[in-house]
Amino acid sequence: MVYNWLLKLHQKVFPSQCRLCRAPGEPGLELCPACRNDLPWLAHACRVCAMPLPPDADATVCARCQNTVSPIDECRALFTYHPPVDGWVQRLKFEQDLAVGRLLGALLADSLSPDAEAPSASILPVPLHRKRLSERGYNQAMEIARPLAGLGYRIETRCCRRVRNTGAQSGLSAASRKGNVRGAFLATQPLHGRRFILIDDVLTTGSTLNELARTLKRGGAQSVKAWVVARAVQGKGSAGRHAPLNVIP
Ligand SMILES: [Zn+2]
Ligand SMILES: [Zn+2]
Repeated sequence: MVYNWLLKLHQKVFPSQCRLCRAPGEPGLELCPACRNDLPWLAHACRVCAMPLPPDADATVCARCQNTVSPIDECRALFTYHPPVDGWVQRLKFEQDLAVGRLLGALLADSLSPDAEAPSASILPVPLHRKRLSERGYNQAMEIARPLAGLGYRIETRCCRRVRNTGAQSGLSAASRKGNVRGAFLATQPLHGRRFILIDDVLTTGSTLNELARTLKRGGAQSVKAWVVARAVQGKGSAGRHAPLNVIP
């Protein structure tokens, strides 16, 4: 209550400005309505792997996911990994721009429909290895997850650790990425019956999210969903160029 009051006061004294065009931003958001509208929103995508589906497709699951079993029960991505979102993610990861993490998290929180998963599920930002965390000083997935606490979600940081410092995934092929993250996570508590929503910045091949989901399910988790800011797809974006992706026509 006090926090909300202070937030409103802060917004009045320091009105936000759109980080793209410098026009006045929406309340509490560094984004104006026109630029928000122009973002590369991912409207229709496979509900298991978040790969875009043709706009007129009736199916909600892509051909590949229809024939494979994924440890992730449901996945949604807010955007495709295209400008300006790709640049924002890079700034968040490598330039300590935590404000852009707040913006992305606020957009993610804002996109949740009222019938979204009840806050009985725990939000789990994909853990960083402690060495990487001390180098960077923060976990970018945690920065994205923070605004979700305002919706009543519990943000979980203790039940699972990243026990292997796997190095950067970018630049590796899909097969190498999978091998690179094998055994990367360890559940540190019994997870029977628990439900999780994983949060991450970019989904490329899904190997990291899949490995984390497998670890949680082996630990007894009942369901694991994933919400990511951006889905890398082949094409003009800047993320898909390294790894061959299974694009379903
Ligand atoms: Zn703008
Ligand atoms: Zn799929």
